[in-house]
Amino acid sequence: MSEDPVLKLVGSHPPAFSLSQARQISEEHFGIGGKLEPLWGETDQNFKITDDKHSGYVLKISNAEVEVSAIDCQISAMRHLATSAPSLSVPLIKPLLSGQVFGRVAARDGVEHLIHMVTLLDGVTLANVAIDHDNLFAVGAQAGAVTVGLRGFFHAAAGLELYWDLRRLGNYERYIPGIADAGIRKAVEAIVPSFRTDILPLLGTLRSQVIHHDTNQKNALVNPVNPAEVTGLVDFGDLIHGPIVQDVAVAAAELARGDDRILDDISAVVRGYDKTCPLEEVEIDLIYDLALARLALGVLIGVTRTQNEIGSMGGADYADIYSPPLESLRSVGRGKTVRQLRSACRFPEYCPPVALPPGTNQAATNVLIRRRRKVLGTALPLSYDTPVHTVRGRGVWLYDVDGRRYLDCYNNVPHVGHAHPHVVKALSRQAHALNTNSRYLFSSVIEYAERIGAMMPGELGACLFVNSGSEANDIALRMARECSSQDGTLIVDGAYHGITNEIYALSPAAEWGLDNGEGIEHVSKLRADIEIVESPDTVRGRFGSDDPQAGEKYAADADRAIATLEQAGHPVGAFMLDSAFSTNGILNVPRGYVEGVTARVRAAGGMIIGDEVQYGFGRSGDYMWGFQNHGLVPDFVTLGKPIGNGLALGLVVTTPEILEQFTRSKEFFSTFGGNPVACAAAMAVLDVIENENLLENSRVTGTYLRDGLRAVGQDNSSVGEVRGKGLFIGVDVVSDPDTMTPDAAQASRIKNHLRDSGLLVGTEGVGGNILKIRPPLVFQHEHADMLIEAFEKALKQCGRP
Ligand code: PMP
Repeated sequence: MSEDPVLKLVGSHPPAFSLSQARQISEEHFGIGGKLEPLWGETDQNFKITDDKHSGYVLKISNAEVEVSAIDCQISAMRHLATSAPSLSVPLIKPLLSGQVFGRVAARDGVEHLIHMVTLLDGVTLANVAIDHDNLFAVGAQAGAVTVGLRGFFHAAAGLELYWDLRRLGNYERYIPGIADAGIRKAVEAIVPSFRTDILPLLGTLRSQVIHHDTNQKNALVNPVNPAEVTGLVDFGDLIHGPIVQDVAVAAAELARGDDRILDDISAVVRGYDKTCPLEEVEIDLIYDLALARLALGVLIGVTRTQNEIGSMGGADYADIYSPPLESLRSVGRGKTVRQLRSACRFPEYCPPVALPPGTNQAATNVLIRRRRKVLGTALPLSYDTPVHTVRGRGVWLYDVDGRRYLDCYNNVPHVGHAHPHVVKALSRQAHALNTNSRYLFSSVIEYAERIGAMMPGELGACLFVNSGSEANDIALRMARECSSQDGTLIVDGAYHGITNEIYALSPAAEWGLDNGEGIEHVSKLRADIEIVESPDTVRGRFGSDDPQAGEKYAADADRAIATLEQAGHPVGAFMLDSAFSTNGILNVPRGYVEGVTARVRAAGGMIIGDEVQYGFGRSGDYMWGFQNHGLVPDFVTLGKPIGNGLALGLVVTTPEILEQFTRSKEFFSTFGGNPVACAAAMAVLDVIENENLLENSRVTGTYLRDGLRAVGQDNSSVGEVRGKGLFIGVDVVSDPDTMTPDAAQASRIKNHLRDSGLLVGTEGVGGNILKIRPPLVFQHEHADMLIEAFEKALKQCGRP
């Protein structure tokens, strides 16, 4: 026996009791006789015992090196499973005649061995049937179920050293030179050090518990008639406390066939495991490395045993068993394996933890663009000359398929940051519990309505839940028309309110980009029941910011519009207003304009719809709702986009009186509107806005960013003006600041330059020349600094001083 602790057990032979000695032990200690057959054991000796009376047992004579506590641990685990997961088929302990669960016998040389007996399970080993994805899936599922069953199990001996623990891979390093095959030797030489430095430290941070840790083709039992039916999992001899992912990786490495089917086989095992024991993303991404480590460990244990002149499995060398899968898996590679396993477990596309050289996945991106065009058409163009193939978002960062990160200075839907953990947690918890339509009574939609109502001014507090901003506007419009009994509508030139038939007609901004020289007129200009009031654009409109009466002068156009509607037989029933004047170019609205138009509309019997789909939830910094910047209290407030941080939800808030009037003679029902999951997300968004003080952040960081951009753009002839409020900023890009001539081409160049430098902004406005900056509200000073610096560089590199 070697003094090397690693070799203490790995280098030892199984006990060598004869059949007749074993029979005697069985009869004497357990009262069980019958036909005995030796079963293979690596370091222990096993005998299958069958007779006519009993269904069968396995007598286990442990290696002399095995400690009592280790056997006690195995037995306790099996007993634990019998109560925690009674439907799982695992062996049951057969006590000795003495009532003990294990005993001791002496070999001829006087050395003592522990003995115990378990029930024989039905079925044949997986090694005895044709392996396919169905039985691999089923065995994977069984292994996962055992892990779940062992969740609450503890035994101090699960912490004992085990030579098959792949976390000990480094201990075998000195045996690498003994690997006969040069290719395998090189492979193992590469695996061992990187395992130690890159993988091992991570394992200590993962979910850990007692795991079975030895699902292999000999330990998994299946029904020979239907091999996709698992009849049991045996051999608790490798039980250990360790990361759950180690258990699934061992199963994957041991069960998969070692040729070009390896990846599909591993996928089947992992899919099965994930079904019963849902895996975490970080675990999925480690399976490749851990499976390779297991295979390398197999080779090294083989070398160790050969050097100590111990036969391995049935005489075959472990190196012969583990080398083919090792080679096959290595040739598949990490990237492909991780992608396939993520997809098998329905995890989103892979994002490499460390950025790959830019363009590494360009070919795949190009294919995706072609597929998109084929099925989604061209109606929805992709942003940027080189589209960003996004796979992940975190806070203010978006990541592409190569793992490159982009500072998201544009997206307002992830209002409190991409994948905010509080929101993700809330919606997934709700999804676990209930998601249904709002005809059933559940609390979240009511709680949300109460909470949002308490945040609104005046009587506003009665809610109608829908699924998008467009729908909210559509319903608000219908309500306004019905409740005012007037069907004319007023909108601001250049506005955008959505996509439904009625709302599209109120969105002249939707015509931009349509104009192909054929003089297409937007429907808003053709309908007698819609009138457009002049946009209060003090940069390019009739009245400039130097005119103190500009607001009132622009508002006066409402007199004309209201009269025109009246004459056409469509008196004004509604005025819909996006108080950010977003698509108009994020305007500095002159004082008196909003007040002037809304007062005229109300005087004519019309109602006001405050479209807060973009501006709401604190974006303007000073107030939670954009209309508050204008001292307005609308009759309807419509909410969308940021409301659920990406979960689809739309909301109309009005007064109880108006709601009562609208629903008096009809019911209102939107299947998904206000569903519990969307409401959970929306509730969590409000929590985060409060807890992280995001209204204040929007004001402070927005002001800082605007000042920085102004300073950079001050002496640059491309920058006409920097406008906006809070974290909603427009940079007016011009060809000449004196004439303020819009320069959409230059705006596009700057936007694309920023994109290529890793910062995302958009373009907006009637002339398409306004750089639109509207980041998640968790945007901080440091991010503002990055944008200011990149903007300065972009201005320099896009020409014109
Ligand atoms: N109103 C405004 C001001 C918007 O910006 C938008 C979306 N761009 C909408 C309404 C429509 O919202 P949705 O896309 O959710 O239908």
